[in-house]
Amino acid sequence: MVNRIFLRVWLLWLLSFAPAWATQGGTPIRIGVFDNPPIVTATPGKPPEGIAIDMIRWIAKREGWKVSYVADSFNNLLSRLDKGDIDLIAVIAYSDERAKRFQFSKESLLSNWGMVFRRAGVHVESLPDLKGKRVALMRGGTHTQALIELSRQFDAPFTPVYVGNFPQVLAAIAEGRADAGAVNRVFAAVHAHQADVVATSIVFNPIFVHYAAPKHANPAFLQALDRDLAALKADPQSAYYDSLRRWLEVSSTERYPQWLPWAATAAAGLFVLVLAVAGFLRYQVRRQTGELQRRADRLQSEIRQREQAQQHLNQLAYFDGLTQLPNREGFRTALEQALSAMQGTNERLALLFIDIDRLKNINDGLGHGAGDLLLQQVALRLQSVLRAHDHLSRFGGDEFVVIVSEIDQTSDAELVATRLLSSLTMPIDIGSTQIYSSASVGIALYPDDATSMEVLLKHADTAMYQAKEQGGNRFLFYHAQQTARVVERLTLDTRLRQALERDELLLHYQPIVDMHSGHIVGVEALLRWDDPEQGLVLPGAFISAAEDTGLIIQLGEWVLEAGCAQLRAWQEQGRAGQMTLAVNVSTRQFEGGRLVKSVEQALARTGLAAEFLELEITENVMLIMNDEVRCCLDCLRGMGVRLSLDDFGTGYSSLSYLKQLPFHALKIDQSFVRGIPGQPGDTQIVTTILALAKGLEMQVIAEGIETREQYDFLRDRGCEFGQGYLMSRPQPADRLVDLLDRPTCPRSV
Ligand code: C2E
Ligand code: MG
Ligand code: MG
Repeated sequence: MVNRIFLRVWLLWLLSFAPAWATQGGTPIRIGVFDNPPIVTATPGKPPEGIAIDMIRWIAKREGWKVSYVADSFNNLLSRLDKGDIDLIAVIAYSDERAKRFQFSKESLLSNWGMVFRRAGVHVESLPDLKGKRVALMRGGTHTQALIELSRQFDAPFTPVYVGNFPQVLAAIAEGRADAGAVNRVFAAVHAHQADVVATSIVFNPIFVHYAAPKHANPAFLQALDRDLAALKADPQSAYYDSLRRWLEVSSTERYPQWLPWAATAAAGLFVLVLAVAGFLRYQVRRQTGELQRRADRLQSEIRQREQAQQHLNQLAYFDGLTQLPNREGFRTALEQALSAMQGTNERLALLFIDIDRLKNINDGLGHGAGDLLLQQVALRLQSVLRAHDHLSRFGGDEFVVIVSEIDQTSDAELVATRLLSSLTMPIDIGSTQIYSSASVGIALYPDDATSMEVLLKHADTAMYQAKEQGGNRFLFYHAQQTARVVERLTLDTRLRQALERDELLLHYQPIVDMHSGHIVGVEALLRWDDPEQGLVLPGAFISAAEDTGLIIQLGEWVLEAGCAQLRAWQEQGRAGQMTLAVNVSTRQFEGGRLVKSVEQALARTGLAAEFLELEITENVMLIMNDEVRCCLDCLRGMGVRLSLDDFGTGYSSLSYLKQLPFHALKIDQSFVRGIPGQPGDTQIVTTILALAKGLEMQVIAEGIETREQYDFLRDRGCEFGQGYLMSRPQPADRLVDLLDRPTCPRSV
């Protein structure tokens, strides 16, 4: 905007001076000029000069024209020419397009072409290098449009920086407003010598500079101009060549033959053509390379996506989501590889089948979330004690398998098993609860026990089962006899269910006596199975199997009701006095809060008062202690039922729990009683338990008293109640009734 206002003011000022440098007399001719040195130099305040002006002056003088000059921008001059505001434009390149609008002189003033200059430090050597650059161009110039067209053909679009004339093009480059710019070669020959402006090898758009008149001007005028110009150009000594020498500082005729401009034009054309072809080829190569690169990238990305998908599938197929350990399939692959690598060698391998003890209790007691957390912790602990080449996998549930390769001797596998078990000895924190975990481990050896994967796995599983049956928290090697035991155990569950249906279960009662008086104060109901094939079967043979399968819940309910019914019957016969009934309860009976309901039901159905019922719960209840179990115990106590801790000293007890939980009594396990009074360790333990119970104000019942020494020892150290073969073996109800009236153990003398 400011430029435009400036231009107008300048034009008005220029026109006011026009008469001063207009040629006097003759036919008036208005000639449009714009600054395009050295062909025309239109400096404000000065008459125009340059090659085109020299020629005009010479011809005007000869033809008797009265010349006046109109300075304006090139674009405006074209409009003025259209409208007939001016009679001639002093410098205009010929183009077919323009030839439709104006009349051109036949003679050209000189030949010219576009040249690209660049700013020092900017890389522009061929047309494609212009891509994305800022290129200064004279607005409306022939070369301007030509360069834009060319760059389009070469797929090298740039950002044009338009200026009014060529000097401004060079200024834009020198001042850094443009990276490159285009001027014509005639201008460049004289003016393009700034420090920061460097000529490139890009030349383009060869043109011929002419004079042009409005379309409908009198042709005689241009004919005169053509005639005079031709004469001038024909004479090497003419004013034409003087002017060229003066303005271009070169002597065309002296240094170059007359055909040189034509040859130069042709050469430039050829050069442009070569450049165009080279650029085009380069462009094609680039385009093709780019396309190939794009395809390669696409292919690469597809491969990456497929790899990721494959990895994800592998993760799902071969790994366990909870512990991130390999799953059953992952194990299978690893074992197959290990076994095939060992083919034909003397190497051995051990398979360790690990089963976490009592996970079901934890799931049931604390919820599956806690069970999951436990499994994750267990997995970490197991992994932490394995060597890098041992392979740990999770089989699902609470089962893990370790492949221990490079075994020299059996003790190597034993060592790994021991390390695995000891990794679980420290309690595991699950939220606010601490859980003591242990595992049962079965070991099968390759090739000693089996050579196929399936059989090896089966044997390790069998050995694990045996380890579990023996109380868990241990490892066992596989022995052929174990298989028979597993089969036996599988059929046991079926047979037990049938026993319950066929009424083959019964209770024996063992007296619990007051150690001072020898009188029976209670009886413990002990389950028996009258198997038609094997005779009387003791609970040791089937309780743990029933706990595993959950059948213990139904068995327990049966015992509760049958025991309560028996005591109620003795009470009704007037034989029971204040005698209590102790019933053993498995920790599994706490599941789902069923125990309270079962007790309520048994008492309600039999009519026994709650205070005559005592529930014996093993110490291991501490392992599953949670709000639900605690609430259940409180509820039973609230009902008036007595609670005792069975087999005290063999499992896990927490002193803080002992203080908090509503137990009436502790039952010292018979394994400690067995060693008294002879064995100092047992004696010490029993004495400590007695002191502890006293401190906690709990009653103590000693189990398994078989000798008078044991009896006396216990009684003398304050044990109030006892139970054992010395007083009576467990008896069927009808035989026990005979004992009720008399002391079962005479006082020692
Ligand atoms: P327990 O509750 O500790 O029962 C005491 C066990 O010690 C009984 O074995 C009993 O016969 C035995 N015993 C008693 N006095 C002596 C003795 O002086 N010397 C020896 N060596 N043993 C003695 P039993 O009847 O074989 O029961 C074994 C275990 O089976 C019981 O141990 C109890 O944990 C479980 N059990 C028995 N009946 C049931 C039941 O109805 N439900 C549940 N859940 N478990 C039961
Ligand atoms: Mg018991
Ligand atoms: Mg016991």
